[in-house]
Amino acid sequence: MKLTREEIKVLAEARRVAVLTGSGISAESGIPTFRGENGIWTKLNPEELANFNAFLKNPELVSAWYSHRREIIRESKPNAAHLALAELEGMYEDFTLITQNIDNLHQRAGSRNVCELHGNIERNYCINCGTRYDGEDFEENDSFHCRKCGGLIRPDIVWFGEMLPHHEWEKSEQAAGRSDVMYVIGTSAVVYPAAQLPLIAKRNGSFIVEINIEPTPVSEYADISIYESSASAMPELLKLIKEYKRVEEV
Ligand code: NAD
Ligand code: ZN
Repeated sequence: MKLTREEIKVLAEARRVAVLTGSGISAESGIPTFRGENGIWTKLNPEELANFNAFLKNPELVSAWYSHRREIIRESKPNAAHLALAELEGMYEDFTLITQNIDNLHQRAGSRNVCELHGNIERNYCINCGTRYDGEDFEENDSFHCRKCGGLIRPDIVWFGEMLPHHEWEKSEQAAGRSDVMYVIGTSAVVYPAAQLPLIAKRNGSFIVEINIEPTPVSEYADISIYESSASAMPELLKLIKEYKRVEEV
């Protein structure tokens, strides 16, 4: 990674930082992305499973699919990129981590100010009475029915055709809009409206840093593009920023 002193200065001296992450950041934790070669949806069609009608029509199949994904996620651990972001948070007065991931790995790595645009697979609720089944193994005896009312339990994630959680979106839009620096990490940046966030940041004068293993639509307007895996790039960036701050402080 080759960054100029000027570029490192911009990153280190930023006061307001926003970060947008996508499934690429969790690839090195062993969680497959959707669109890559080993994408989990290569065999199953996502649109057919991740929507409310599919769930009502075939709750067994859709629930089994989420149980399977939950298992993979629980067996995986945050990687060096998640950990570097958690440490970066403590170095800025205003730091917002916006994620499209539902895997909970940012929280497990220690990030605190996290906006979950697409929900979290560890949260679930009954579609009939609203009883929550958060962080629980509710599928005992292979049942995904509410213990109170027998209704279906669904994951608290955003399915195709559903709206993003209003509060999380507003918070994300504001964080992107007021940022001095925005990192865009491991996202193909084609899923709207999340893909709009770096554009909002750019329009407001933010300095855009992209980290991805290959170019994306963000590359066209990013101020820096780092084509490396995030688990190698993020700890290195953290180190450069820390070194800069240490030198400036003495
Ligand atoms: P995506 O699958 O569209 O794109 C993944 C991006 O990550 C690609 O641009 C790819 O080049 C890049 N990438 C792959 N490995 C990388 C690495 N090691 N380092 C850096 N970059 C890497 O994913 P998306 O943009 O997040 O959008 C698709 C949707 O997928 C989102 O809605 C999200 O909710 C969902 N999803 C989430 C998870 C998860 O929670 N971990 C997993 C799969 C899909
Ligand atoms: Zn219920």
